[in-house]
Amino acid sequence: TPVDTGGMDLIERQKRYLVPGISLYYQNPLTIVRGQDRYVYGANGERYLDFFGGILTVSVGHSHPKVVQAIVEQAQQFLHTSTLYLTKPMVDLAERLAQITPGPLSQSFFTTSGTEANETALVMAQLATGNHDIIALRHSYSGRSHMTMGLTGQADWKLAGGGMHLPIRHTHNAYCYRCPFGKTPDMCAIDCAQDLEEFIQTSTSGRIAALIAEPIQGVGGFITPPVGFFEKTVEITRRHGGLFIDDEVQTGFGRTGKPFGIEHYGVTPDIMTFAKGLANGMPIGATIATPEVAQSYRGPTISTFGGNPVSMQAALATLRVIDEEHLVENARDVGTILRTGLEDLSDQYPVLGDVRGMGLMQGIEIVRENKIPAPELASSIHELARQEGLLLGLGGLYHNVLRIAPPLSVTRTEVQDALLLLKTSLKHLTEQYPQLKSLPPTRIHYR
Ligand code: PMP
Repeated sequence: TPVDTGGMDLIERQKRYLVPGISLYYQNPLTIVRGQDRYVYGANGERYLDFFGGILTVSVGHSHPKVVQAIVEQAQQFLHTSTLYLTKPMVDLAERLAQITPGPLSQSFFTTSGTEANETALVMAQLATGNHDIIALRHSYSGRSHMTMGLTGQADWKLAGGGMHLPIRHTHNAYCYRCPFGKTPDMCAIDCAQDLEEFIQTSTSGRIAALIAEPIQGVGGFITPPVGFFEKTVEITRRHGGLFIDDEVQTGFGRTGKPFGIEHYGVTPDIMTFAKGLANGMPIGATIATPEVAQSYRGPTISTFGGNPVSMQAALATLRVIDEEHLVENARDVGTILRTGLEDLSDQYPVLGDVRGMGLMQGIEIVRENKIPAPELASSIHELARQEGLLLGLGGLYHNVLRIAPPLSVTRTEVQDALLLLKTSLKHLTEQYPQLKSLPPTRIHYR
């Protein structure tokens, strides 16, 4: 059936009526007109296997019927009121989050984006500790408000000074492929984590409000710290009066093969933040804290659209589907197949320098000889994959990381299909750049 794509001049109209800062993927930008399960369809009826899920927002599959039904039924009942009134869907979701998050985390505040969730978390941490200084990790991404641009550890995303005036400092992340301490995995003693002690003593007032971190960095290119990193940094943080804010905007709700990314590290956060996949595409942000921390967050405070019943119902339905369809286990099992396939490809094509991540969150760092970042090759692969019918993400400080994160409901067959499409794209890349055939090995091997 013909679909209304907004006309051939959509790109022209976008350029005229939207700010130029919005970055679009692909030389010939893609107009999505429909989505179903793990597929999206373009304006000319072409079908793509979606291995980025609208930046990890589509967690249980495009337009999952149970989520759509929950949205429609709620919209028919009542749409928005505000946090000034009691609404059952908001209380239901808060209760559910308290049940599924680790430890004593149990009191939530809802917003409509990850940016706001992190803003809320920081204000909460400052109120609860009475301290102001905040530590973030290099390569992180936290949002697009001034404060969250300040938290973001990548210059590109810091517009208009990007919160540089705030008491935020960036410590090392465990970027093992390019270890800041020059170590290889077999000699790793997580010096990067240990360094936080001196960092706080030298670069802050000595008392901190919080360390904020993503268990696996999203926009930063799926940098995945080794076990032990968070245990050490969180211990140092708490010794200096700070709370641990765990940003699960990308890693939450099964993405990494466990309910939450931080659970791979055996650490219980004081505050967690969520957005993206929680409501399978509906706008949502959530900040959950322990009662002890939350009790200092006294108002008056309000969010006009935060906690709106449609997003709440979409989230409740998404969480039910994750349970019913065993999607955390699927992310773990199918994620292993994806990972093995990517490692095999990287053995054949050394341009795939590093394969990292967990579950259905796998990144590939694209490099030349001596691990030199190759952003132009990464974007060529990204384009070629699109031509083959496979959508991937890009990221990383050096713009050279392919990000792979299909909906959690992805099947083994779809993963095999995606691996084949990626392999074909790499073959085409090697035809374009024959010198890549003689590239010496670029991978490092983790313990
Ligand atoms: N935190 C992380 C880890 C993110 O990846 C993002 C979005 N890319 C945000 C926060 C900000 O979320 P939003 O775009 O919904 O404001």
